[in-house]
Amino acid sequence: MRTALVCGAGGFIGHHLVRALKREGMWVRGVDLKRPDFSPSPADDFVLADLRNAASAQACVDRHFDEVYQLAADMGGAGYLFSGDNDAVVMRNSALVNLNVLEACRVTGVGRVFFSSSACVYPMCNQQDPDNPTCAEATAYPAEPDSEYGWEKLFAERLYLTYARNHGLVCRIARYHNIFGPEGTWQGGREKAPAAICRKVSMVTDGGDIEVWGDGLQTRSFLYVDECVVGTLRLMRSDCQTPLNIGSEELISINDLVALVARIAGKQISIRHISGPIGVRGRTSDNRLISEMLGWAPSAPLHNGLAVTYRWIEGQVGLF
Ligand code: NAD
Repeated sequence: MRTALVCGAGGFIGHHLVRALKREGMWVRGVDLKRPDFSPSPADDFVLADLRNAASAQACVDRHFDEVYQLAADMGGAGYLFSGDNDAVVMRNSALVNLNVLEACRVTGVGRVFFSSSACVYPMCNQQDPDNPTCAEATAYPAEPDSEYGWEKLFAERLYLTYARNHGLVCRIARYHNIFGPEGTWQGGREKAPAAICRKVSMVTDGGDIEVWGDGLQTRSFLYVDECVVGTLRLMRSDCQTPLNIGSEELISINDLVALVARIAGKQISIRHISGPIGVRGRTSDNRLISEMLGWAPSAPLHNGLAVTYRWIEGQVGLF
């Protein structure tokens, strides 16, 4: 039976990934500081461990795995990553995890390793125009990420690339762009825009207003988690040795995202703009390379995934 290790299996994407690997019939070990927040993990073995500790990481990679997915990171939305208050902690935590997991994979010997990098690696100077951001893979250098989180991802990408070059490890790297969906963080300060907006819209009465950080003219694209998992598996099993974007090219302003969620909810909503961390003016995936190399592109429009996510968050708000 083929085997997989998923680091970060208690998190949003990791949990969905474990499900997909189990559906394929693989034997899966999940590792995380915590179990998934909203439903039990289907992993065959779920280890609670702190991957910042080298011995713990080595204990998790105690045997050959065909596939190791390294998704564990100190992660959050703009409120957590762009305030500046958590920079040192974010860099230290995530760098230690990547150093330890990768070294454990080298020592033990595994089939291949996947690393989840981020759109946050792209230079700020290419993302000033909300209507025309540039996030083609080759534009990551010269580097100027908008956050220390992005700098750590860039360092980690290079770490995986050097382990491939010097130690012969088979590494695959994706740059995820704003993944969203059910069972993602939707409150507490680490949630991202789609979840925050779904929560606010579900809690406000028809005709009311919600707060949005900035003028709402900043643009992003958002990828539904099921699409992300399909792209991840395709990249992992490919022969592509360079980082690839996994995202959507459906660019939308935050104001229009609110309007879309309001339409899904069947409510009239107005927006109150307040100051807050907003990141770059525009960001979207550039899927030319992944579509050329792997034939991958999202299969459905933003609306579809957002409708499912809104209903899920509405249910969570009701339970709370
Ligand atoms: P998440 O926060 O839900 O999952 C990350 C998991 O890592 C968490 O469950 C956390 O407990 C775990 N973790 C953190 N430190 C750990 C440690 N020391 N030991 C063990 N586990 C630890 O985030 P996510 O949205 O599922 O993202 C998964 C990966 O994808 C992350 O690496 C993230 O940086 C990357 N990514 C995500 C997005 C997105 O939009 N969600 C975008 C770009 C990149």
